[in-house]
Amino acid sequence: MAFAYNEGMRQADSSTVYVAFGGNQGDVRSTVQSALEALSALTGSGVRCSSFWASAPVGMAEDAGEFLNGVAAFETRLEPLGLLQALQALEVRFGRPAAHGVNQDRTLDLDILLYGDQLIDLPALQVPHPRMTSRLFVLLPLQELLKEPLQEPGMELRIPGENRSLDELIAAAPAMRISRSPIPPVPVLQPPRVPDGQLRAD
Ligand code: AMP
Repeated sequence: MAFAYNEGMRQADSSTVYVAFGGNQGDVRSTVQSALEALSALTGSGVRCSSFWASAPVGMAEDAGEFLNGVAAFETRLEPLGLLQALQALEVRFGRPAAHGVNQDRTLDLDILLYGDQLIDLPALQVPHPRMTSRLFVLLPLQELLKEPLQEPGMELRIPGENRSLDELIAAAPAMRISRSPIPPVPVLQPPRVPDGQLRAD
């Protein structure tokens, strides 16, 4: 599975990864853009992003800020656990306390939704992300990202271990108040290059 925009630089043994991002503290757009730029440099891959989708916090204090969520897609040669470690390091670098609860304010949350067509069931990592199929704040941006014109024509996303299509999952997901935010999406990110044309690791 590859995207037209980065076909030329795709490594033979790389995988397409979908990562969910979100936060409700600080300048979420700027935090997400900085984190994805770092990820682009680390993986040497272009990164495509959905819009930001806004939803009210659930099960949190009344004054908790709204959540902005979205999905990013890129190629990587990092192994799944290496990628998880890199994402967790970015969460900490961008202000999230290393120890945190489930329903807590956060500057940045990064979850691996899909890693190629792999099914992973390790104590530290389950892929597809176990809750992605019931979360509209993941399914709607993922659907948006897959509809973009850069996508290979006729390509349909398959969620390993799941028989239902994305449209069916969206129809069955618990209702929540969610809308596409007017905040401008993070543009397509290209990895920085060093003068000799080699990709630079961060
Ligand atoms: P959260 O607080 O939602 O960011 O959850 C973080 C915890 O979920 C970490 O301990 C991870 O090891 C674990 N985890 C399991 N599967 C995943 C996944 N697909 N993506 C990110 N974190 C995961």
